[in-house]
Amino acid sequence: MIRLDGKQTSATLKKEIAEEVEKMVANGQKRPHLAAILVGHDGASETYVGSKVKSCEQVGFTSTLLRYENTVSEEELLQKIEEINLNDDIDGLIVQLPLPAHISEEKVTEKIDPRKDVDGFHPQNMGRLALGSPCFVSATPHGIMELIARYNIETSGKKCVVIGRSNIVGRPMSILMSQKGIDTTVTLCHSRTQNLKEICLEADIIIAALGKAEFLKGDMVKEGATVIDVGITRVPSDKTKSGWKLLGDVDFAEVAPKCSHITPVPGGVGPMTIASLLFNTLKAAKKEVYSK
Ligand code: NAP
Repeated sequence: MIRLDGKQTSATLKKEIAEEVEKMVANGQKRPHLAAILVGHDGASETYVGSKVKSCEQVGFTSTLLRYENTVSEEELLQKIEEINLNDDIDGLIVQLPLPAHISEEKVTEKIDPRKDVDGFHPQNMGRLALGSPCFVSATPHGIMELIARYNIETSGKKCVVIGRSNIVGRPMSILMSQKGIDTTVTLCHSRTQNLKEICLEADIIIAALGKAEFLKGDMVKEGATVIDVGITRVPSDKTKSGWKLLGDVDFAEVAPKCSHITPVPGGVGPMTIASLLFNTLKAAKKEVYSK
């Protein structure tokens, strides 16, 4: 069994990005610049945005963090996004989700200029993804594709089961795994799927993205399968200083012995997500997706 080491792979990806940034700077170009908007003081959101900003520094990007109180109006936020859209110094913009209930996530997502939408959530990028055209692929699915490629996991003609159909993970994942060049035959499962265990037992590759701790058990996986665990659930723990620990959607102890490859949680998909956001920001700065 091979552990797909997201920590190590993301460090490699970040190193490649940092080298590219230094080349750009040496050629007289500006450093890529990522702006992040954070509304409110949700602990998990603070942690995610904090790591994104810190990672920008590690690869030599400029970053700007814009903080708003929970009381900020939708209008003010949309105006700020418009301002950033028009600011040529900023290459990428992310708005940390979730937003307070009085702000429409749909309006906010659609307001971001698709050329700066490094989270890949804008309908134009999602549509391009479905069409197989150049686009920003959302960070978690992109990170998973990098892991699969860098560990040379055979995909052509294989059966892939994706559990979860969210717009940020499961659905784009199912599109990517079925695209030309990857060529798996994909089954996209959700909470209404019947006979999930039987479907999983047929799979060569399982991507679990449902957000239910240790859901995928040993008797749901065939020998030699590759298992990618996207889930992150905080559960109470008396063994950690913080009083909680992170669990994936896969029962690692049961599933790992049957696998050819598996991602751990933590240290699997998570670190790849941030590295992929940096990758997208670099692409935005180099105008690789949209030429103008
Ligand atoms: P989400 O929006 O809540 O979607 C969950 C999906 O799982 C839904 O499509 C749901 O089906 C399906 N589902 C729920 N229970 C199921 C069951 N018993 N059997 C089959 N399908 C079931 O979640 P998400 O945003 O995609 O996130 C999923 C997990 O990944 C979460 O733990 C999240 O924290 C984690 N995550 C990790 C990263 C990372 O960087 N590692 C990034 C993003 C998310 P319906 O559509 O029918 O409701």
